[in-house]
Amino acid sequence: MLNVSVGERVEMKKPHPCGNNLFAVRRVGMDFKLQCEKCGREVMLPRSKAEKNIKRIISE
Ligand SMILES: [Zn+2]
Repeated sequence: MLNVSVGERVEMKKPHPCGNNLFAVRRVGMDFKLQCEKCGREVMLPRSKAEKNIKRIISE
């Protein structure tokens, strides 16, 4: 299981329709809420789907 926390950023395997694949993590739980860093839109993904789609976690 991935250990992702709110406030971290993630690089996704599948990019957002706007072409960007870096997202800010807004909420974790049963569903992940991710905010696209380029266009600012938020997406909700079921945890299982989000975990499969995360390429790497960027902590700072
Ligand atoms: Zn976007």
